[in-house]
Amino acid sequence: MKICNKCNQFRPFSEFFKSSKNRDGLRYYCKSCCLLLRSAWGKKNPEKIRKNYVEWSKLNPEKAKYFSEKWSKENPIEAAAKKLKWAKLNPGKKNAVTARRRATKKNATPKWLTKSQNKEIQNLYITAKELQWLTTDKNEVDHIIPLIGVNENGEHVVSGLHVLWNLQILSSKLNKEKGNKFDFIKYKEEYLG
Ligand SMILES: [Zn+2]
Repeated sequence: MKICNKCNQFRPFSEFFKSSKNRDGLRYYCKSCCLLLRSAWGKKNPEKIRKNYVEWSKLNPEKAKYFSEKWSKENPIEAAAKKLKWAKLNPGKKNAVTARRRATKKNATPKWLTKSQNKEIQNLYITAKELQWLTTDKNEVDHIIPLIGVNENGEHVVSGLHVLWNLQILSSKLNKEKGNKFDFIKYKEEYLG
């Protein structure tokens, strides 16, 4: 047992966090006092809490992902609001995420893409958004070879990949013109033989 210097209660050793600074290897305050102080401090320093969390999550990406998914499940309304706010602040990134999700569904995002290649794809979507002023209609990121093509038997098949070298920025109007005119059979004859 040990006495807590904050609440002055005798508590078992297991009720104290470890501290290498102290002679007995335990903190002066008990766990519940520490947690109370910590949460009071956190309310006064939300920015510091956020910054610490960002740093920690960089070092522990798997754990961070787990906690953020758990939090989203437990707080669906807050999670949706947060998502919406983020999408408004990061329109380019949001487009990249949506495109990647779609491409993954169609099995068009290769698993062998490196982190920096994925980052380059994201940057292209951000650039498309930033170059919006160049065109009177919307800028879109287009798959040069569409993700879904039609083969000679009229069947839909995965053809293009969601990779940087298959992406280009097009105005919405040009993209529509290109539309579904893409000739898979011609492409196959020309490039695949
Ligand atoms: Zn205490």
